[in-house]
Amino acid sequence: MNVYDSERIASLMRSEGYEAAGGIENADLVVINTCTIRAKAEQKVYSLLGRLSAIKRKRPGLIIAVGGCIAQQEGRAMINRVPAVDIVFGTHAVGRFPRLMRQVERTGRRLVDIDMQDVIDEIGCAGKFQANRPVSAFVTIMQGCDNFCTYCVVPYVRGREMSRTPEAVLDEVRFLVSEGVREVTLLGQNVNSYGQKENYPAFSELLARVNQVDGLKRIRFTTSHPKDLSDQLIDSFQKLDKLCSHIHLPVQSGSDRILKRMNRRYTRDDYLRKVEKLRRAVPDIAITSDFIVGFPGETEDDFQQSLQLIREVEYDSLFAFQYSDRPNAPAAKFSEKLDESQISDRLQDLLALQEKNTYEKNKKLVGAVQPVLVEGYSKKGGDSDSEVPAQWTGRTSSHKIVNFTPNMDENSRYEDLTGKMVNLIIEKAFSHSLIGRIEPSGTIPLGSKGENNYAA
Ligand code: SAH
Ligand code: SF4
Repeated sequence: MNVYDSERIASLMRSEGYEAAGGIENADLVVINTCTIRAKAEQKVYSLLGRLSAIKRKRPGLIIAVGGCIAQQEGRAMINRVPAVDIVFGTHAVGRFPRLMRQVERTGRRLVDIDMQDVIDEIGCAGKFQANRPVSAFVTIMQGCDNFCTYCVVPYVRGREMSRTPEAVLDEVRFLVSEGVREVTLLGQNVNSYGQKENYPAFSELLARVNQVDGLKRIRFTTSHPKDLSDQLIDSFQKLDKLCSHIHLPVQSGSDRILKRMNRRYTRDDYLRKVEKLRRAVPDIAITSDFIVGFPGETEDDFQQSLQLIREVEYDSLFAFQYSDRPNAPAAKFSEKLDESQISDRLQDLLALQEKNTYEKNKKLVGAVQPVLVEGYSKKGGDSDSEVPAQWTGRTSSHKIVNFTPNMDENSRYEDLTGKMVNLIIEKAFSHSLIGRIEPSGTIPLGSKGENNYAA
C-alpha cells in the first residue's frame, strides 16, 4: 500500500513538472513516505530525518516533506521535533500534496495537513504519469480498516474503511493494461469486506469483472482477513482463470487465547476449516501468512500452538514480526509484556521452522512445469553495460520467484520476454527462489488455469 502511495506522490509531482533526482545530493525536494506499523519502521524515519537535517544545514533551500502514517500520527509534533521538516502531510492528503508544495515555495512557511476528509475518489488517476511501468502493478481498491485488532495502529492512521467504486477500479486496471501491465494486485487492509458498507458488488464479483479485462494475464489480491473469507471468494479460485493460485491469509497466532486478546474474531479451528476449504477447491494453492511473536501474555504453550499450526498448515512462506507497542493500539496498555530477548528467541525458532518448510515446498516443484510471468531480467550478461540478459526473472502463479537463462538463436539474438507468459520446467530449488528452463513450445502440457502457452 505504501508502494502504491509513493507512486501516487511521484506521479503527481511529475505532472507538476518535477523529475526524479536520482539521489539526495541532487534533490531540491525530498519526500519521505512513512510507515508506522511497527516501532522499527518509525525509528528508521527519525534516523533518516537526522541525516537529511545535516544536509539541509549545508543547503537551506532543500525542501523536506514527510507523508504517510507517521505523518498522520505525529502531525504538528513532527514539525516541532524536527526543525528541518517543511511539510507534514497525512494519509488522506496525498492528492493535496502539490498544492501544499506550491504554498511552501511561495510563502516559505512550514505546513501540516493531517485532515482525514473523504478522498476515496482521488485514488488512482495519479498513476498516469509513471515512467518505466513494471509488468506487475498495485491497484488500491479500498482504504482504512474497521477491524481494530488490539495491536494495530492502522485504523487510527488510515481511518475508517472505505471502498472505491468498481468502475474506478476497472478503469484503472484497463488503463494499466493499456500501458503494458500484465498482472494487477488488488490492495486493501481487508479486501474480503470490499464494498460492503457502500453496497457495491462483493469482492468476488469485482474479481470476476477484473478477470474479464482483455490483455490482463494475472490477478492477485492482498490482504484477506480470515474471518471474512467467504465461500464465494474460495470459489473464485476455481472459476477465474486469471486469479493466481496464492492467498495471503494472516493468522497472527495459533492460540485461541491470544487470538481473542488480539480481537481477531476467529478461532484456530475456524482458520483451519478455511484452509481446508481452500485446499479442497484448489489442491495446489499456495498459502502464506503473517505471525506476531511475543504478543502481551503469550506463554510458551501459546507459542508452541503457533509452531504447531505452522506444521499443520504447511505454509509456502510467511512473515513473522516481533510484537511492538503502537500509539493508540489497546495492546500497548496490556500487562504481561514479554522481554525483548525472549521474543527474539521465539522469532528465531519460528523462522527456522518455516525456512525448512519453505525449502521443502520449493523442492517439491523440481521437475514440474510452471507457467511463469516474466517480469524482466535479474542479471545482465557480459560486462555491466551489456543489454543482453544473462537471466530472466518471473513468478509462478503461487508467487515463487523463478530465474532462468534466455534461449539464444545462432546469432546470439534473444526474444524480449518481459510481460510474456512462459512454461518453465523447474530444475533447482532454493529457500527463496527457483531455477527453471524454458520448455520448447508444444512439447509441454499447459500449466493450470488459463495460463498461455510459451511466449503468448
Ligand atoms: N490488514 C492486514 C495487516 C496489515 S499490517 C491483516 O489484517 O492481515 C501487516 C502485518 O503487520 C500484520 O499482519 C501483523 O502481522 C503485523 N503487525 C501489525 N501490528 C503489529 C505490531 N504492533 N507489532 C508487530 N507486528 C504487527
Ligand atoms: Fe490492522 Fe487488523 Fe485492520 Fe489488519 S485487519 S489493518 S491487522 S486492524
